[in-house]
Amino acid sequence: MVDILIIGGGFGGVRTALDLDKKLSSKEATITLIDRNNYHLFLPSLYEIASSFGLDLKKDEVRLKKTIAIPFGEIFEDTKVNFVQAEIVSVDLNKKEVWSKGEKSFRYDYLVLALGAETETFGTVGVLEYAYKFKSVEEAVFLNKKINEKYKEAERGERPLPVRFIIVGAGFNGIELAGELACCTKKIAEVCKLKNKCTEIKLIEAAPQILPVVYDKERVIIRERLEKLGVEVLENSPIEQVGPDFVQIKDGPRLNADFIIWTAGIRASSFLKNISGLKLDERGKMTVNEFMQSIDRPEVFGIGDNTILLDPSTSKPMPALAYVAVDQGKVAAENILRALKNKQPEKYRPFYGVWIAPVGGKFAVAHLGRNLTVSGFWGWILRGLVDFRYMWSILPLSKAMSLTAEDVSVFTKND
Ligand SMILES: Cc1cc2nc3c(=O)[nH]c(=O)nc-3n(C[C@H](O)[C@H](O)[C@H](O)COP(=O)(O)OP(=O)(O)OC[C@H]3O[C@@H](n4cnc5c(N)ncnc54)[C@H](O)[C@@H]3O)c2cc1C
Repeated sequence: MVDILIIGGGFGGVRTALDLDKKLSSKEATITLIDRNNYHLFLPSLYEIASSFGLDLKKDEVRLKKTIAIPFGEIFEDTKVNFVQAEIVSVDLNKKEVWSKGEKSFRYDYLVLALGAETETFGTVGVLEYAYKFKSVEEAVFLNKKINEKYKEAERGERPLPVRFIIVGAGFNGIELAGELACCTKKIAEVCKLKNKCTEIKLIEAAPQILPVVYDKERVIIRERLEKLGVEVLENSPIEQVGPDFVQIKDGPRLNADFIIWTAGIRASSFLKNISGLKLDERGKMTVNEFMQSIDRPEVFGIGDNTILLDPSTSKPMPALAYVAVDQGKVAAENILRALKNKQPEKYRPFYGVWIAPVGGKFAVAHLGRNLTVSGFWGWILRGLVDFRYMWSILPLSKAMSLTAEDVSVFTKND
């Protein structure tokens, strides 16, 4: 009997656990997944939580959170996977032991590190103190409450309009949030019977243009959509300081705002640095080979956002994407199985490049291939189908369907 331990129940960790569960019997292995939370977080819809409208958060906070925070109990029901809620604080690679905050130890024969990423500030002064971070469901709900409070203050005449938002980072996360916030704040202003210009949203990007990885024609569609929603895009505008109510653009103006939301970057979980003997690159990501194993520890696997792996066809690092983590999780599971059967490991074959970006309301841009872009309502439908497909891959069909129905009902209230 071998002990397989997976730390992190994100996209990669959950896939590894479920695949191992299918492939191994309870006589062959114990499969344990540890996460600090008791739910799997569907990060791609986090922007919907920050910008949700029409729920009374005093009563419906749990309902809102459950749209994207899926209890591990539901995912691993009827499987052999043991879920443990704990924060892991140390790993001893020589003793093959892992310790949680409560001083509990877990031993392993195979370890999968799937700890994800955390917010990267690039050393910008004031981000940690003053900006709203955008990485957890609590942060998104908190932001939502604060936004509602601001408009209520305006309704009571206690503050001037417009309410000003600055979103830092015009990658997919920033764009999705800006688009949906424009829809949400319009609805709130209507309910609060506010007239005139109620909202100002600036989306700020340090690079010469938004979304450098996408084709020009898709960037044009996204930009036009943002403009239509009233979002102002500022490119070539690196931020050198964030204050309580302003951002200072390098060699540029100081812009005031009520909300400064940081979506500018991620870095690998800093916890990895505490693991003595684990090979990391200069940015603190775990170095893995094409079999998703740590370079000199074949019994330790790394998957998803906490790893660095170069795509051999481009020599560029794999992007931090949910489906990349899922694919790597599948390979890690397969290779643990192969190791148990003394078989040659399988190579991870990079696949990425398709994407779907929702840009406010029932509108999304889907890049499905070099010459295939679907945008508008049908892009939004496609995104819904992809999200549903994912839910169904981790939940029984009936639960995936009811969760998707609930998500559509909650998320479209602001469209
Ligand atoms: C706002 C946002 C929107 C995104 N939108 C998209 C999108 O539309 N499409 C897409 O493909 N990708 C998207 N991504 C990227 C995608 O979510 C990540 O690439 C993906 O989550 C990576 O999966 P992972 O398994 O590596 O880590 P994660 O999914 O981040 O999971 C890591 C898990 O590890 C746990 N953990 C961390 N440290 C510890 C510890 N010490 N002890 C115990 N548990 C721990 C965490 O609680 C978490 O559950 C988005 C990311 C963000 C932040």
